[in-house]
Amino acid sequence: MPSDTQQWIRIINANENNLKNITADIPKKKITVFTGVSGSGKSSLCHDTIAAESRRELNETFPSFVQQYLPKYGRPRVGRIENLPVTIVLDQKKPASNSRSTVGTYTDIYAMLRLLYSRVGRPFIGYSDAFSFNHPSGMCPRCEGIGEVTDLDVHKLVDFDKSLNDEGVINFPAFTTGAWRWKRYAYSGLFDLDKKIRDYSPEELDLFLYSPQIKLDNPPDNWPKSAKFEGIVPRMYRSVITQKEGKRHQKILDEMVSTYQCPECRGSRVNEKVRSCKINGLSIADFAELPITEAAEFVRSIEDPVARDLKKELTLRLSALDEIGLGYLTLARGVNTLSGGEAQRTKIAKYINSALADIVYVFDEPSAGLHYADIERLKRSLLKLRDHGNTILIVEHHPEVIRLADHIIDMGPLAGSGGGEVMYAGSYEGLLESGTLTGKSLSKIVPVNKNPRQAKERYRLRHATFHNLQDVSVDLPLGVLTVVAGAAGSGKSSLMEQFRQEWNGPVISIGQKSIGTTSRSTPATYLDLSDEIRALFAKANNVGAALFSFNSKGACPACNGKGVIVTGMHFMDPIETVCEVCDGTRYASDVLQYKLGGRSIAEVMGMSVDEAAAFFAGQPFSGRLDAMQRVGLGYLRLNQSMTTLSGGELQRVKLASHLNEKGTLFIMDEPTEGLHPDDIRKLMVLFDQLVDEGNSLFLIEHRLDVIKQADWVIELGPGGGTAGGRVLFEGTPGDMLESRESITRPYVEKSME
Ligand code: ADP
Ligand code: ADP
Ligand code: ZN
Ligand code: ZN
Repeated sequence: MPSDTQQWIRIINANENNLKNITADIPKKKITVFTGVSGSGKSSLCHDTIAAESRRELNETFPSFVQQYLPKYGRPRVGRIENLPVTIVLDQKKPASNSRSTVGTYTDIYAMLRLLYSRVGRPFIGYSDAFSFNHPSGMCPRCEGIGEVTDLDVHKLVDFDKSLNDEGVINFPAFTTGAWRWKRYAYSGLFDLDKKIRDYSPEELDLFLYSPQIKLDNPPDNWPKSAKFEGIVPRMYRSVITQKEGKRHQKILDEMVSTYQCPECRGSRVNEKVRSCKINGLSIADFAELPITEAAEFVRSIEDPVARDLKKELTLRLSALDEIGLGYLTLARGVNTLSGGEAQRTKIAKYINSALADIVYVFDEPSAGLHYADIERLKRSLLKLRDHGNTILIVEHHPEVIRLADHIIDMGPLAGSGGGEVMYAGSYEGLLESGTLTGKSLSKIVPVNKNPRQAKERYRLRHATFHNLQDVSVDLPLGVLTVVAGAAGSGKSSLMEQFRQEWNGPVISIGQKSIGTTSRSTPATYLDLSDEIRALFAKANNVGAALFSFNSKGACPACNGKGVIVTGMHFMDPIETVCEVCDGTRYASDVLQYKLGGRSIAEVMGMSVDEAAAFFAGQPFSGRLDAMQRVGLGYLRLNQSMTTLSGGELQRVKLASHLNEKGTLFIMDEPTEGLHPDDIRKLMVLFDQLVDEGNSLFLIEHRLDVIKQADWVIELGPGGGTAGGRVLFEGTPGDMLESRESITRPYVEKSME
């Protein structure tokens, strides 16, 4: 124990999750990195012990009449923590957001812009509220400030390649060719019945689709006397969607609805009046569409003395985003479209100029989504935050971030109940000598793949322009392991998304954003194990299976089977607390009397995958548990809410449910997120098996251990956004060492030393 006790945070007897009564010292105003295989207990210490205790202590400082409105925190299972400052968690969860949150509003930059425009913009249109898309006086009236509208998709309702005489021209019952509603269009005399809709003149198309009710001037003979003509879209709304008929056909209608950019404000969210107010030719909406790097330049060019203070403050905040490597984002970008890594970096930028000092900041793999070149900038931001007098705690696997640490706490030795101990605490150099799994992995050199597999075929992707892609043409090898590398925002996901949309065969796309989870989904529900386990309980006890479901009869009445109580907060992110009635098990107490092999349903669902695999050995569904072990998730609990899993863990759960595929295209977005080098080694074995079984793998990846072991590498860049979108390199990892363009090459070379 260090002598100057005031300079250390001391955690005594921590027992959360798998922690084994550990004691740890963390230097204040320094950077401490927590390492160890996934599931070893890093988050249990940082998040569930340190951050949780700080939150609870903070709550207790509020007067009791305020406390009754705050969620009640259980005391984390720790003896005590000495010298703990206020703790702020900057993780990868999207800030509590809705479609009204943008990068601009979340970072408070948009609020400053509104002030700027209300003072300097020409012509003046009012006070700063008048520029807000969340305020009635500034919002676009059509989309009410959302920037998007949800509407009938006419291309799904009408087949533009057909004429009115063709079967199936209008895809809705009662509008079918020959039916009575169709006759209003065919008998109106307004259209050439053999002309394809696609060939209608703009006036004809407008009449056919959108005309309000009109009386025909010269109605044909077979036209009902009192009937009016009406375009198909308003007619669908008036006589179908808003009527009982719409309810009957809800399923068909749901498929015909699409979300578009708002045609009125073209996605800018603000109304005409706001768009007309400009500074040097740019409206606030135009400003919000600039990449942040350019927005910062624009602010510098404003010369009006009225703007001096605002200009300084805006520049500070825009630079913070730029410096952390998010210069390619726009302020208009919806927070809910950011990746986990981008969301976390946005939070860092928001706090970096904060006047507060002596705060503990807890980070969750801040390197996620970052290329080695981007990490240089991240490191500068973290050092800046530390040098403001803050304590930085980072859960990380990336060698470059681990190297940055003033102090390292290495957890292990293994995952779950095999972990939960401090294996090493001290300097980086000491870690390399320590002989722990982490120390050994960091000093081991992973070789470049000398025998890359040859592609069986190549998919010729041509002229890709999705998002920032600059007319990219590239051959994508099939039947091998391909890594797509490059700077954050360079277009890797966009390239894979375009490929996915064009591809005709089976594809399993496991992106960071693509797995929908609710607090009710768990590994057991996701892998369809729950039904099987319930059936076994029902049979053993001779009662109905629904009794063992927390989504049904077995639900704890207090939390309705969620296991947690979610409290919405006005001034912070919503907060989840464990349900006190069922203690988080989700089950009603009377269900627990029924046993299987001596265990209650709550006990079985509380098992780790490893424990369950032993308990259910020989059952027909045990292969699914085996798959979870193969993707390195044996330590997860069957009932752990999927919302508590990291992006990388989620991807591996999904991967586990597809391990028996053959001839499938797999696209994954940083599957190594949250993985220790030793976990990566195991995952690579699995990837090789998948390729050998006839699948094609495309991994968006940054970790050199993966890039070096790939069969083929495609690198995009050089920068993010408009500074990226080009192919810098394509070839084998060996070829990369010869490439002059690749910005990854120097890092690969360095890693071989
Ligand atoms: P790491 O951060 O090192 O990956 P964690 O601290 O997340 O590890 O997990 C350590 C152990 O605790 C694992 O076995 C994990 O399954 C378990 N665990 C983590 N969070 C929970 C939770 N909310 N409920 C139950 N078990 C958990
Ligand atoms: P990478 O995967 O290499 O990090 P992306 O393909 O996600 O890069 O992003 C490439 C560019 O496209 C960036 O400028 C990014 O801001 C933009 N972009 C990505 N997703 C969206 C989206 N949903 N809406 C608008 N722009 C996007
Ligand atoms: Zn609009
Ligand atoms: Zn409950």
